[in-house]
Amino acid sequence: MSKSICIIGAGVGGLTAGAYLAKAGFQVTILELATTVGGSAGAYVRKNRTFPTGATVAFGLEEGGVLRSLLEDLDISVPNELLDHPMDVVLPTGKISIYRDAGLWEQELKRFFPSNPKEVLAFWNELHRISLDVLRIVENRIALPVQLHDLQKLIKIAITSPGSSLRLARYSNWTVEDLMKKYKVDQLEPFRQFLNAQLIDAVQTDVSNAALLPSSLALTIYRNGSFSIDQGLVTLCRALANRITVLGGNVHLSSPVMTVNFNKSLRNWEVNSTKVQDQYDIVINNAGVSFGSGTSFMEEEVFSWGAFRIDAILDGEIAKELNDGKFPFALQIVPTTEQYKLLRNVHGPIYVTFHHSRDRSGNVIEDEVMMTASVHTQPSQWFAFTKEQYKYEKELVRKDIIDIIHQTVPLKDLLRSVEAGTPLTYKKFVGKAEVGGFPLSVKNAIRSPKSVRSGNRQLYIVGEQAFPGPGTLSSALSGYYAAKAIIKGLH
Ligand SMILES: Cc1cc2nc3c(=O)[nH]c(=O)nc-3n(C[C@H](O)[C@H](O)[C@H](O)COP(=O)(O)OP(=O)(O)OC[C@H]3O[C@@H](n4cnc5c(N)ncnc54)[C@H](O)[C@@H]3O)c2cc1C
Repeated sequence: MSKSICIIGAGVGGLTAGAYLAKAGFQVTILELATTVGGSAGAYVRKNRTFPTGATVAFGLEEGGVLRSLLEDLDISVPNELLDHPMDVVLPTGKISIYRDAGLWEQELKRFFPSNPKEVLAFWNELHRISLDVLRIVENRIALPVQLHDLQKLIKIAITSPGSSLRLARYSNWTVEDLMKKYKVDQLEPFRQFLNAQLIDAVQTDVSNAALLPSSLALTIYRNGSFSIDQGLVTLCRALANRITVLGGNVHLSSPVMTVNFNKSLRNWEVNSTKVQDQYDIVINNAGVSFGSGTSFMEEEVFSWGAFRIDAILDGEIAKELNDGKFPFALQIVPTTEQYKLLRNVHGPIYVTFHHSRDRSGNVIEDEVMMTASVHTQPSQWFAFTKEQYKYEKELVRKDIIDIIHQTVPLKDLLRSVEAGTPLTYKKFVGKAEVGGFPLSVKNAIRSPKSVRSGNRQLYIVGEQAFPGPGTLSSALSGYYAAKAIIKGLH
């Protein structure tokens, strides 16, 4: 009989693992707390509008791209749009536009950093070279820590591309700041601010701490392609869930797992959710929460952020401007020192996206625009507030964020509705207050990467907390790595 697999959580990581395993003939059961699939890449409905729960931009869907190749393995394709102008980063000193086209991007770098264009470009060119080396490893689907079955691929890369391998070895312990120093751009404050803003969203830490190898990819990935998916990333998650059920697996929604116990004599797992109680050969934890010692990386003392978010509906002329392509897909706003003094309880850049507004069935509402905004916050403080304090602080942050966005896009008169969410909201709907995984420092990303394997040969951990880290593409890869290990019986 084929082995039975229980996957806790229908996030991108769990769904990817489930689809690969169902395709390979395993009996797959997914137990999901929420009423929908997707977790931080899902969607929720409020007042007949469908809002994303978190992720809005996808990566790796270009021809030959990593996510695309995973989806092709699974016979899945999702309608998407390639973004030529994915983002404007609004710094206190001005606005820098991120373009997919390499020539336009080079011009933009020269325009925005006129005092040191040569140094900035030299830094960026080296970053780009490193990112290609890293991409080759990712495209070969080699996970860290390197397993025996991937050694052959690594050796082949070392023989065919010795320069690239040497570069990877040389830079393996470097932070982004180390490379900035090499190219004498570490004292260039607006450049540092720009890189910090991008890195805090992508790898959860700043230049002084961010590991150069994964960061090189995060900083240059817009040239490979970034994508908006029709109706949001939830479309991808639904397609994966659908694939699992077509292949004979089960996806149980509104079925939070309460207990997970390993039966040593039967050598299997007993998993109890509110709807399903059963035994399984293997458990994959994608929930990002612990079900007992060794079941999650959350037990380790690694700092992890939470998110404060705003979901708003705007109306009027702005809808026409969106349709006319006047906005980039996203804005990343770095508050000024004065704004920071006002902003309480949140940190880092404010990430804003504008989309078509859609009703609960996914139909576009023509005269409206949906705006989402998110910013980092420390979850514990929100849990410490009394009910009144919580309400007061939430309203204050909501107002401050709208004020800051208004200075870039005047929108106050266009607001039809505004809702705010805190780490408590995430805890309620996706079972965890910390979202975004761990900071990709040299330690977390290179020296002791968090393997999808655990201390128990019948337990795997996937999602943003496992290698290769935060983001939908990385979570999907972690699901693939776990499935591959199980399929090959290599654990
Ligand atoms: C505001 C925000 C914006 C983001 N923007 C982007 C972006 O634009 N692009 C991008 O690539 N990434 C983005 N990310 C990151 C990305 O969304 C996540 O890294 C990724 O979706 C995490 O996937 P995962 O596999 O770890 O699962 P998660 O999304 O963490 O899902 C875990 C699942 O487990 C379920 N669960 C929890 N507890 C239980 C339980 N007891 N029983 C059963 N199920 C349980 C949850 O309900 C959830 O569905 C963003 C994240 C946030 C928060």
